[in-house]
Amino acid sequence: MELSCQFCRIVNGETSTKFLHEDNNLVVFKDIHPQAPVHLLIVSKKHIRSINDLEDDDREIVAEIIMAAKLMAQRHGISKSGYRLFFNVERGGGQVIFHLHLHLIGGW
Ligand code: 5GP
Ligand code: ZN
Repeated sequence: MELSCQFCRIVNGETSTKFLHEDNNLVVFKDIHPQAPVHLLIVSKKHIRSINDLEDDDREIVAEIIMAAKLMAQRHGISKSGYRLFFNVERGGGQVIFHLHLHLIGGW
């Protein structure tokens, strides 16, 4: 937990953000500025700055994030039509919130 981290605050229930899904290592909520009809963020409960900071012990978290993306796409009815998954990594990669999260966008 990083006190200044917005996603740590959300994960800890300190905001009104509604979780669409929760698992051992992650929560899922809607992006506040959606880039598509469906735009979800799959966010690790553990504060990890970015993909660059993953450690061997974080493998289970990464696997859970990908499996949650698949499940969320199914639940939102966009599995067949298709969707994009992406991690922005550091400033040059467009990362703004430095807490690991996978974007799921689709439903066009
Ligand atoms: P990044 O560019 O770091 O990969 O993406 C961060 C994403 O988080 C952005 O798409 C932004 O709209 C979203 N975001 C930032 N702050 C909040 C917030 O407080 N609540 C929600 N739901 N989304 C947020
Ligand atoms: Zn954090």
